Formats: sequence, structure tokens, C-alpha cells
Amino acid sequence: MKKSKNTENESMSKKPAFRAEPDLPIGLEDVPNHLKERVTRRNKKPMKREGRCVVYWMQRSQRAVGNPAFDIAAHVANALKKPMVVFFCLDPGFAEAAPRHFDFMLRGIEETAAQVKNQGAHFVMRLHPTNSPATFCEEVDACILVGDENPLRDPEAWRQDTAKKVKVAFYTVDSDVVVPSKMFPKEEYAARTLRPKITRLMDDFLVAGHEPTLKVSPEELHEIKGLPLSSEDLLQSLPLNTGPGPLPSIPSGYAAATKQLADFIENHLSTYPNNSNHPEKAHGTSRLSFYLHFGQIDPRTIALAVRRCKAPKEAKEAFLEELIVRRELAVNYVLRNPDYDRYEGFPEWAKKTLEEHAGDKRPYLYDAETLEKAQTHDPLWNAAQLEMIHTGRTHGYMRMYWAKKILEWSAHPEQAQKQAILLNDRYFLDGRDPNGYTNIAWAIGGKHDRPWPERAVFGKVRYMSFKSTSRKFRYRDYIKRVNALCCPGLEK
Ligand SMILES: Cc1cc2nc3c(=O)[nH]c(=O)nc-3n(C[C@H](O)[C@H](O)[C@H](O)COP(=O)(O)OP(=O)(O)OC[C@H]3O[C@@H](n4cnc5c(N)ncnc54)[C@H](O)[C@@H]3O)c2cc1C
Repeated sequence: MKKSKNTENESMSKKPAFRAEPDLPIGLEDVPNHLKERVTRRNKKPMKREGRCVVYWMQRSQRAVGNPAFDIAAHVANALKKPMVVFFCLDPGFAEAAPRHFDFMLRGIEETAAQVKNQGAHFVMRLHPTNSPATFCEEVDACILVGDENPLRDPEAWRQDTAKKVKVAFYTVDSDVVVPSKMFPKEEYAARTLRPKITRLMDDFLVAGHEPTLKVSPEELHEIKGLPLSSEDLLQSLPLNTGPGPLPSIPSGYAAATKQLADFIENHLSTYPNNSNHPEKAHGTSRLSFYLHFGQIDPRTIALAVRRCKAPKEAKEAFLEELIVRRELAVNYVLRNPDYDRYEGFPEWAKKTLEEHAGDKRPYLYDAETLEKAQTHDPLWNAAQLEMIHTGRTHGYMRMYWAKKILEWSAHPEQAQKQAILLNDRYFLDGRDPNGYTNIAWAIGGKHDRPWPERAVFGKVRYMSFKSTSRKFRYRDYIKRVNALCCPGLEK
């Protein structure tokens, strides 16, 4: 039977009841619900009360400040009267990341290790696969393992494997979203279906952390040694994939992220609604995506700072829509659709229309090398690709155009998606992120979008032309700006 509109509205306005795990770890009795509701039990193994310490396996949330997983582990350690160790398992083959990604991450980790120490825990980084969270727990005689969460396929499989192999209780904590992902158990259709649900829960979850002081000194754990933390030496010694080199001019870590946030709020937030559609302006957007991707800053910290500042309401709302609704819609897609990075993940209407137009004559067909080297006929597209190669980022507006043109110039949309993901993940500092897979599925496969008037190649998937795009902003200034960054001397 169909629900009446009223019943639907009523159920939309009802908040879900408190949904914490029935089987929470010890020490969370006085912890507020907004933290408890982030916790998921991953196995049925017992906690080892007589063990030596509590282990927090840090993977995605690479910070010790504003980190719900760190906080939960600390509460448990205090309740057990044990010291806490933060374990980071460095996998040089992780997600085909390039030296550029490892350099940024390791520079941030140096600061994170210092933060961990300041908070009263011990930090140990070891190499994968010789080490794993399960073997580490055995070595240090862990009472319990706490981890953070990551919705991508391989990191989630790592957690599932760890849940089987570790001999003690394992919990994870959803630490890099404002509203915990488990609140949205189904795949959302579009931003308009997720937005009201997020809005309803926002005040419950958009609150500052609950950071305990660790009560037991970690001194007796200092004999547990890890890799030296000098990022430069480490980078030299790791068996990394080949790929784009480091970007040392981009500062990494929590301090850099909070500085960037402060500068954005002070100088650029009020013009965000307009400037975020102007790639020619270097500071039109926050440039926080790499810090978010590496978990160096908590999205709640960003959202709370934006909420509290004096910028116009319209600017705050426009920014929070991207940071919370769009970003968490991407997490929802990746978490709930196993084909998030495959053609099969596109909505049925989009696959149908793309197939109907698969035989259309393409105005240009470019191979992978021509695209990668930014050698197409289109100066605007080439500038977006060059910006990506040389600076590790491309303005969000240009990313849309970039992906749409890959669809237009590829023999088949499936090939276009593969090509876009390959370049996105190889060059963007914020690549290999739910945002990347989801936005590529949006641009090429109509995900979270609706059908548009039909045309060649794209069918009913939204189209972007050079003519209309280049009219929306001063495109020659954008090309000039990119040339000045990437190929000094060519800016004219
Ligand atoms: C084809 C394509 C590929 C993309 N690939 C990535 C990627 O690999 N990694 C990535 O983090 N983002 C990706 N995006 C989303 C978006 O373009 C970037 O997050 C944004 O440009 C980062 O710059 P910023 O931090 O200055 O963004 P701001 O405009 O300042 O936004 C603030 C934050 O909101 C989030 N956000 C902004 N736009 C979106 C969006 N459309 N979807 C989801 N979240 C958003 C990001 O976390 C961002 O840091 C992609 C977009 C497209 C169209």
C-alpha cells in the first residue's frame, strides 16, 4: 500500500531513537550519545581485562585531536586503568597511492605522533604486511582493539579481516563524518533525499568532541618500538609505487589544516557562493579536501567553526551543503553500493541512455596518453589536467568539466569512467576518496542527478560545453593562473 504524503512527512520529521550498540565496551557509561552512536562492534571476541594496554589502530582518522575513535579508546583505557598505544600500519602499496600521497601523509603523521604523545599515549608506526593490527595486538598483549572507519572497499575488507584474526574484542568508531553513516542504512537516491535526514540529526551530532585525559602514563610502553618518524628518511626507504612526486609546497598536518580553515573563514567564506564557481580565483574555495581526505582535521571542527563565525548565513549554508550533505552523500554511495567505482553502479536510466548513444560519433577520440599529457584540442580542459598534475588539485568547477569531456572523448562511458578514476587517483592529493568515485559517477553516469534533454554521446546525462562553460567565468584568466603555477613563462 502507498503511504499517504502526511505519513511520509511525519516519518521524515521523526528522529530515529538512540541507536548505540547494545554491547558497548567498558568505560562509556558517562560518554555522550553522539559518541556512543558512532561505535560498532566488529567481532564477538572477549575483552582481555588482564592485558597490558588498549590499542587504537589509526588508519583513516590521522589525528589525535577531535577524533572520536581516539576518544573512545581513551575512555576505555581509563576505565581499565591501562595505558594506550596508537598503532599506525604503513602499507607502501596502499590503494596504488603515489609518492605524492605518501609524502603528504607522512609529513602529517610526524605531527600526529607528537599530538598522540601530548595526549598521554604512545605512538608506534610499523610496516605492512610484516605487521598487522592483529599481530601487533598479540605482541603488546592488548586488552581490546579500537579502530576508525573507512567506507572504501579495501580498507573495510582490512577491518573485516582484522575482526577475524585479532584475538580480542574489536570495535570501530565512525570518526570522519558529522552524522554517523549507520544512520542512513540504505543507498540514498540524491542529495534531496539525504539533506532532510541530515538536517534532522545535525544538532545531535554536530557537537565538539568529548576528549578525556589519559590517566595511566604510557611510559612502560616505550620499549615497543616503531619506524623512525622522519618523513623524509621514510619516503626514501619505502618500496613505493612509481607515480607523481611530492608536493612539498603544500603544508600537511593538523596545524596546517586549522590555519587553512582560519584563513578561509576570515578572508574567503563570505564570497564562497559566488567564487566557488570561479576557477580563475585562486582562493574561491576552502582547499580543505586533502586535510579531510587524510583525516588530519575533523569535519565537525570545520562545521562548528563555520557555524560560529560572522559570515553571511547564505555563505555558511552554501559551504556546509558541500562539506556535510555532498560529502556524506558520497560516503553513503560508497558504503551502500558495492559497484561505486564501476559502470554497474550508475543508475539504470543513465546506463540505458548511455548505451543507446554508445555508437554515436565522438567529436574527438583521445587515448590515455594524450589525455594524461594534457594534449587535447581544448585549452580549458588541458589547463584543468595541468593543474591536477602540477598542483595535486583542480578547482571543483573545472573537475566537473574535466570528467564530462572525458566521457565525450572516449569510445565508451565505461572506458571514460576507468580513465577518469585512474587520473583522479594518480594525481589528486585528495584522490582515492569517496568524493572522487561519487563525483565521477555523477559526471559520467548521472549518479545522484536526473535526466536532462537528450543529445549525442551523453544521451540524457547532463552535458557541459566549452562554449557555455567558458562564458560563466573568465576562462582565459583561469588558463593564465594555471600556466603561472605549472609552466611559468607561459602565463600569457
Ligand atoms: C569529477 C570530479 C572528481 C572529484 N574528485 C574528488 C576527489 O578525488 N576527492 C575529493 O575530496 N573531492 C573530489 N571532488 C569533489 C570536489 O570537487 C572537491 O572536494 C573540491 O573541489 C575540493 O576543494 P575544496 O576543499 O576547496 O572544496 P570546497 O568547495 O571548499 O568544499 C569544502 C569541502 O566540501 C566537500 N565537497 C566539496 N564539493 C564536493 C562534492 N561535489 N562532492 C562531495 N564533497 C564535496 C569536500 O570535502 C571539500 O573539501 C570531485 C569532483 C568532481 C566533479
